[in-house]
Amino acid sequence: MLNIDKIREDFPILKRTVHGKPLVYFDNAATSQTPQIVIDTIVDYYSNYNSNIHRGVHTLSQEATDKYEEARIKVQKHINAKETYEIILTAGTTHSINIVAAGFESLLHKGDELIVSALEHHSNIVPWQMLCEKTGAILKVIPMNDEGSLDMETYHQLLNENTKLVFCNHVSNALGTVNPIEEIIEAAHKVGAAVLIDGAQATPHIKPDVQQLNADFYVASAHKLCGPTGVGFLYGKKEWLEKLPPYQGGGEMIATVSFKKTTYAGLPHKFEAGTPNICGGIAFGAALDYMNSVGFDHIAAYEDELLKYGTEELLKIEGLKIYGTSAKKTAVISFNIDGVHPYDMGAILDKLGIAVRTGHHCAQPIMDFYKIPGTVRASFSFYNTKEEIDVLVAGVKRAKMMLL
Ligand SMILES: *Cc1c(COP(=O)(O)O)cnc(C)c1O
Repeated sequence: MLNIDKIREDFPILKRTVHGKPLVYFDNAATSQTPQIVIDTIVDYYSNYNSNIHRGVHTLSQEATDKYEEARIKVQKHINAKETYEIILTAGTTHSINIVAAGFESLLHKGDELIVSALEHHSNIVPWQMLCEKTGAILKVIPMNDEGSLDMETYHQLLNENTKLVFCNHVSNALGTVNPIEEIIEAAHKVGAAVLIDGAQATPHIKPDVQQLNADFYVASAHKLCGPTGVGFLYGKKEWLEKLPPYQGGGEMIATVSFKKTTYAGLPHKFEAGTPNICGGIAFGAALDYMNSVGFDHIAAYEDELLKYGTEELLKIEGLKIYGTSAKKTAVISFNIDGVHPYDMGAILDKLGIAVRTGHHCAQPIMDFYKIPGTVRASFSFYNTKEEIDVLVAGVKRAKMMLL
């Protein structure tokens, strides 16, 4: 059991008010809030050992390098990667996906096939479309059904010997659907295709085991799991990371440079050109420690309770429809009220201190599927409470009265 009152004390932002009302933060799928221990880590870095890493012999540089490399090990342990050098620290999910997409440019040929799921965030669609334009590869889509789950029968039919890559999110950010990635990975491997899993929305709730999943690539962002923005990771199996060319040229990613020929550094530095987000990486490590101290089993069980309660209470409102009703989902509730534009609902909820996301949630194909402009999305985290859900439900009722 989690002591939620005590956990809430860890998040200073939860004490603030918005428009004179206590903040109810239900936009966790866009970014999570930051516990004091992560804020302290950031302050400590800039107060005590700010310096560039991997370059200096001086004490500060060594301290920063040690802490940054410790963070890499924390990510490795957290997702159970076999080797530390299989963890590339990046600017986040989007950056990680672009590194892989750019790398595949030299490996693909005209007519090769890539498979994407219908439930993807734009950042797991657009880089692949750009790659297809450059290489002549063809993008195929695993369709979705009404409840917001993937049509796996069609997926199996799409796979063939031309399939080179499959990419899918572990959890959909717009609907909360948990996708059957084990099955997706296993089937792709049978035809020799590599699989990239976008874990941006799964990692706040689930501790992934990349070896057990047998994922070729797994990517996520720190800012959705209590860490800072602008940092994340790309996990890649050693074989794949060795096969892919570097993404950017610059300092840190080289072994030797001359005007005749430059040789590249080994993993992970080959993919880490330039000065990274040092403070962010270290703070990411602190965020993982914090999340693990709360415990992912406890987090998942409690968030599930919130999801159940929120779903039941919201469905009592007449005219309210929930999008994404898969049996396996995380604590995300995407909904609309008949005749109410999601933006208007969101604006009124904000006046009541309630932060929700409105719009297409960077997943326009899903909105097109349902033929809606967008949804109101309430996404819960382990520091939220049932009382806050009551505030949301009352707010939605009030907004409905004002708007209809
Ligand atoms: C948030 C999110 C992204 C993008 O993450 P960034 O941190 O903005 O790069 C990609 N995919 C999913 C499923 C997400 O939820």
